[in-house]
Amino acid sequence: MNVIRFADLVAQGRVRGQRVFIRADLNVPQDDAGRITEDTRIRASVPCIRMALDAGAAVMVTSHLGRPTEGEFKPADTLALVAERLSQLLGRPVPLKAGWVDGVDVKPGEVVLLENCRVNKGEKKNNEELARKMAALCDIFVHDAFGTAHRAEASTYGIAQFAKVACAGPLLAAEIDALTRALAQPKRPLVAIVAGSKVSTKLTILQSLAKNVDQLIVGGGIANTFMLAAGLPIGKSLAEADLVNDAKAVIDAMAARGAAVPIPTDVVCAKTFAADATATVKAARDVAADDMILDIGPRTAGALAAQLRAAGTIVWNGPVGVFEFDAFAHGTETIARAIAASDAFSIAGGGDTLAAIAKYGIEKDVGYISTGGGAFLEVLEGKTLPAFEILARRAKG
Ligand code: ADP
Ligand code: MG
Repeated sequence: MNVIRFADLVAQGRVRGQRVFIRADLNVPQDDAGRITEDTRIRASVPCIRMALDAGAAVMVTSHLGRPTEGEFKPADTLALVAERLSQLLGRPVPLKAGWVDGVDVKPGEVVLLENCRVNKGEKKNNEELARKMAALCDIFVHDAFGTAHRAEASTYGIAQFAKVACAGPLLAAEIDALTRALAQPKRPLVAIVAGSKVSTKLTILQSLAKNVDQLIVGGGIANTFMLAAGLPIGKSLAEADLVNDAKAVIDAMAARGAAVPIPTDVVCAKTFAADATATVKAARDVAADDMILDIGPRTAGALAAQLRAAGTIVWNGPVGVFEFDAFAHGTETIARAIAASDAFSIAGGGDTLAAIAKYGIEKDVGYISTGGGAFLEVLEGKTLPAFEILARRAKG
């Protein structure tokens, strides 16, 4: 994808003395007292801000935080503690400015944090007047918030339309590069794992990947629905009977391309959904009427691991079992370790998938871990994200 990259503008000496507006994703989790409980997103935003400061720009940074009501600033909406944390990380003062839409006073070599952009009236609906005012604040707009790339809002889309220059920050550029490498120009075989609880939440992903991947590995509740489609008994397992025809269509679409959807041959069952439930390994055809399938079995996991070792590219979304319960986590752990050990370029995303990656400590062995939950899933669905579309359009001049 052809977009202007902020790093290139810096290398070309086009940033010195310029007013740079960075849309970051500083939407961190907080406790009831508003304290930041996890600061990954703030740390991830630092390289872009530092790049702009080092290049001699006058730097403005903004983000949304939580779900404020537009036009009604409340104390809970403030980025004050984010400014404090950012200041520690940058080792310099980061003043926080409210009511910034009509003008921001900032000099080259300085950075200001602009208060929660979702408090501005018209932000969510991408109001043109608001977007034009924001664009007028800067010479260069930098989109560095992949987590918002699937939304067209005033600070993510409208500003990119109207700013003199609109480009991708290093974090967004890294996401674009990883997604291109995994989906647009993959080294084959391309293997996707689409697992988790429900087919319904990921049906579009399954349909879209079925047109592209060489193997589509299903797991979790999703695999249960596919087992039903394959005529296997699943007892009381989580499944969506009304989506069996859609599952069949995915299997047929893959078969028509000479590609496969491996169906589990063995599973781990329980009689109750509980951490201390007895785990029983069974052949898939032996699942009883009162069984619940909570994980793929060891033979299935081993066969899938071998496919992952032989893959050229791996896309992973969704745990293949109830990995929160240790007795039903072996399948997900086997998959995670196979991805970590594979020479394939791998990309992973999704809330619970990231939790599984953290549980097995394989962060460094995954090629790229996507930071944007919803945005990542929309890319897998085959959608063009609004942020990518407008930045590509602006790169054409
Ligand atoms: P992600 O957040 O990575 O996109 P999902 O939210 O789709 O993943 O799915 C994760 C959830 O699916 C986990 O909480 C896991 O316990 C659940 N899950 C996985 N396998 C099963 C299963 N066989 N039965 C019930 N729930 C399952
Ligand atoms: Mg989830």
